Amino acid sequence: MSFTRYFSMALELGLEKSMFIKVVSLSVIATLVESLGLAMIVPIYQYMNANGDIEWLLKNEKYWLEMQQVFAVAGLQLSLTTFLLTAMVLIIIRQAAAFLRLLIVAKTREALKQHVRESVFSRYLAAQTHYQHKMAKGELVSELTNELQKVGVLLVAIISLITIIVNLTIYLTFLFITSWQMTLISVAIISLAMVPLQRLQTQTRSAGEKSVAANSEATSFVVERLQMGRVIRLAGIETVEKTRMSRHAAQQFLTMMQVERLMAIAAVAVEPIILAMVLVMLYISVVWLNMATITLGLFLIIIVRLLPIARDFVKARQIISSTISSVEVIYDRLRALKVHAEPDDGSQVLDNIENNIQFAKVSFKYDGTDTVVLKDISIEIPAGKTTAIIGPSGAGKSTLIDLLPRLRKPSAGTIYFDGQDLADIRLASLRRNISYVPQEPQIFDASIADHIRLGKANATMDEIRDAARLAGATQFIEALPHGYETVVGERGGRLSGGQRQRLDLARAIVRKAPVLIMDEPTSNLDPESEKDFLNALGQIQRELKPTVIVVAHRLSTIRHADKIIILSNGIVEASGRHEELIEISKWYKDLAVGQA
Ligand code: ATP
Repeated sequence: MSFTRYFSMALELGLEKSMFIKVVSLSVIATLVESLGLAMIVPIYQYMNANGDIEWLLKNEKYWLEMQQVFAVAGLQLSLTTFLLTAMVLIIIRQAAAFLRLLIVAKTREALKQHVRESVFSRYLAAQTHYQHKMAKGELVSELTNELQKVGVLLVAIISLITIIVNLTIYLTFLFITSWQMTLISVAIISLAMVPLQRLQTQTRSAGEKSVAANSEATSFVVERLQMGRVIRLAGIETVEKTRMSRHAAQQFLTMMQVERLMAIAAVAVEPIILAMVLVMLYISVVWLNMATITLGLFLIIIVRLLPIARDFVKARQIISSTISSVEVIYDRLRALKVHAEPDDGSQVLDNIENNIQFAKVSFKYDGTDTVVLKDISIEIPAGKTTAIIGPSGAGKSTLIDLLPRLRKPSAGTIYFDGQDLADIRLASLRRNISYVPQEPQIFDASIADHIRLGKANATMDEIRDAARLAGATQFIEALPHGYETVVGERGGRLSGGQRQRLDLARAIVRKAPVLIMDEPTSNLDPESEKDFLNALGQIQRELKPTVIVVAHRLSTIRHADKIIILSNGIVEASGRHEELIEISKWYKDLAVGQA
């Protein structure tokens, strides 16, 4: 068990060193004070033996003489009352330190969890698009729930372990003062007692790993299924899915029970081992060492205090073994998110786009694949106009528009915004200039106004209303029971497809970015909703004059575009207006005939 490794991982996860030091210091104080309290038992016992004859005690007992000097410094008279009061005060101090310690442990644990949650989320947001895409969302949810909980448990176990080691050291020191022979024998016996428990630690660790995997698989399964309730119902596969869920739940149960079983074995095994150890020590003390009754008494008290400490020591180690895999998973996730952070090496600011966006011999290949998805693309997208990109499925249209906000970087070639190399522009500045409307609007369970505000956090109600007007959404919004304050349900579930799309258009245009990119915005709409959407788009073009780039399959969406680019198999096959393409592209002409 590499304790330092766990500790450095915890530090990297966000454990505050100062809090940690406070906890350990408080534990030390509590133990020291308690030990002093225990030390009071000796003079009390001697007082009773001497029938309260303090004069005699001061003459004959070294301990009393030393105590008299210590008490004199504090201006106190030596008496049984002073001893009893001192013991009482020490107990109160110990309890106060223990109380503070409990609070600080809880605070350290919760602060660590809060820090991890925030870090994972912010690093996820900052990660490269390809990493975000390939990351299994269910795994992440499992990490932030099940595994994070265990990170808290592990931290408490680490703190306990350190405290226990400190306490053990203090008690062993006292023991050493009482009898050095007994201390050496105790240490030897404690060490021997730990040997059979070592195997349990290894088994617990591997059981912990299995439990992490089972949690992750089960959560991924649930997260995916939660998004496809309708498909499951309509496909009539509820029974199959229930069986699969039962299998995942059973796996979670079994792996967790395995961990618990090993913990239980350790918990019950440790007591008899330690008890046997105490009996052996007692035997040695009485028979071999001829220990005095008082020493033996104190020794026994210390041993009784040591018993739970030794048991907690085994337990803490066992907890660390069972939870370390959870920490490793989160640690690795945070590392990977950091490694895959989106680079922002641009330094220039982009104010507006007045002339054009140009692609100069741009090629693109996805990481880990050999296929070149975009090949030597050279196109011009005029500013203030509508440019449509059309082509068969898999032609590379979505990939091409992903290059504009630098969600992906070209493998070769350059993209220019008004002659400025896209790679030189600061990411935040570039993205401020671009609004995006996806095929499927991603609407949170918030109010209409809140959704529009996602486009501009500080948008005023006037700006929100104006964006809704331009997006052709005013009529349906005002007909809703609470107008702009109506909560639309998860994924905008309480709105029709066309309403959702216009609401999302309002969100995209509220900040009046000069470039508006739309990826198949009408593909899920019926002809009537498509018409409404295109009317709204026409209004936006007249009033805001943005540079519109729209990917579409339907000719009805793009036939009036100023420029249409046909992309086929990653190559620009032709470009021009609708009428021109009918003449020069057979593919386009066939499409026009097919969709007429
Ligand atoms: P559609 O009209 O069906 O949406 P598209 O023209 O937008 O298709 P893209 O989504 O850009 O096409 O995909 C172009 C090619 O790149 C396809 O062959 C696709 O399989 C591949 N591709 C897309 N995304 C990835 C990815 N993340 N990793 C590897 N290959 C990808």
